[in-house]
Amino acid sequence: MTDILFHGAAREVTGSCHILHVNGRTILLDCGLFQGHRADVPKKNHTLPAAIPGIDAIVLSHAHMDHAGRLPFLVHEGYSKQIFATTATLDLCEPMLADSAHIQEQDAEFLSRHHKEHADPLYAARDAVRTMELMHGVTYDQPFDVVPGVKATFVDAGHILGSASVILDCISGGTTKRLVFSGDIGRKGLPIIRDPVPPSGANLVIMESTYGNRDHASVAGAKEELGRVVRETAARGGRIMIPAFAVGRTQEIVLALHELAEAGSIPHLPIYIDSPLATKVTAVFNEHPELFDDSEAFIHAHMHGSEAPFSFPMVQYTQSVEESKAINQKHGPMVIIAASGMAESGRILHHLLNGAADPRNTILVVGFMAEGTLGRKIVEKQPMIRVYGEDVPLRANVEIINGYSAHADRTELRWWVDEVRAQSPLLTDVWLVHGEPDAQDACAATLNANGYRAHCPTAGTTTIL
Ligand SMILES: [Zn+2]
Repeated sequence: MTDILFHGAAREVTGSCHILHVNGRTILLDCGLFQGHRADVPKKNHTLPAAIPGIDAIVLSHAHMDHAGRLPFLVHEGYSKQIFATTATLDLCEPMLADSAHIQEQDAEFLSRHHKEHADPLYAARDAVRTMELMHGVTYDQPFDVVPGVKATFVDAGHILGSASVILDCISGGTTKRLVFSGDIGRKGLPIIRDPVPPSGANLVIMESTYGNRDHASVAGAKEELGRVVRETAARGGRIMIPAFAVGRTQEIVLALHELAEAGSIPHLPIYIDSPLATKVTAVFNEHPELFDDSEAFIHAHMHGSEAPFSFPMVQYTQSVEESKAINQKHGPMVIIAASGMAESGRILHHLLNGAADPRNTILVVGFMAEGTLGRKIVEKQPMIRVYGEDVPLRANVEIINGYSAHADRTELRWWVDEVRAQSPLLTDVWLVHGEPDAQDACAATLNANGYRAHCPTAGTTTIL
């Protein structure tokens, strides 16, 4: 018998973790961090998805922290078996998990030094290093054994570099059933990576539903918007502060600014990638040109040309804390891209502390901001935001560009699941994860009206494959 227990990203967008039981073995699909300011987040992060000795293997869909960020905690608690991921996901996890450990230690230390309430770090740098030793890189479209009786295959999810949907063929009682876990589904036409590939032959689908209730603006339109925001803010003498995930979004924005600069659509101004992590991640991108979408004209030209896609004269990748602080002493228009993507931690906080009160500046939101995060408060244009325990009036201009999402929107999710169904005669049930309730309910209603049986499981819900 095979069953699935939903643990994380159930009626929410963080903490991705689904537990597969096959013939007495237990496999985790993802083990991500719960994020946000809700009171229950530290407790959820400190709660193991299953007893460590009972976990036989982990399969990781991609390197985002809400999917991979709790792996070192499991290792800290004694997990010592294999973790399977695509090769690019493995390469990305090395700097990202190390950074996650570092930020947790640093934030706890900062808050305790300032006598503020804080949660203990989940894990230390050595746990991240040990996690990497357990990770096993696999190429796309190559079936591999997860545990006896379960074969998995990664196919491109088109979401970030290395991202995968996971096909799991589970043999139980002499029959094979196929579970398809979407991971996070990307979009067709993203400028760097290839388009998503919907798997076939599914008996049951676990699908993300982050944007199950809305459509995005176009990717091409996003670049034009970015150009407008840069021009207008530069004309006021302000700085553009962009909280961005170090992986994916930062490279997309850099690529778009490169294109805009080459076309003469933005003025010459310094662009600071103020993130050692983004710098390392960009190096990983440069190591995996085989995963780039060669059909995108700009990427194609710069893969084979003299100027690399993510390096051009206006861009500076900063490393040290001194270099980062020096940015705050500079005057005049500039672009600052810094992690974290939801403005929960990292160097973006120092820039917001320094620049959020200045009406000449722009805070440019280019990614999804979960409920309870500082990023969401900025999107809501709350008059006062709290940064490092200090109240800062939010007087900077806030601009939101939705076209940069790396997540499929309502129409693209529907395309993906319809493609899966067209190639899966036995598919009936679709279990929606990784979405807030409004998005999930809308998505489920549409699917149910179109012949699917859609479910929105809460944490602790079980179903049989
Ligand atoms: Zn993701």
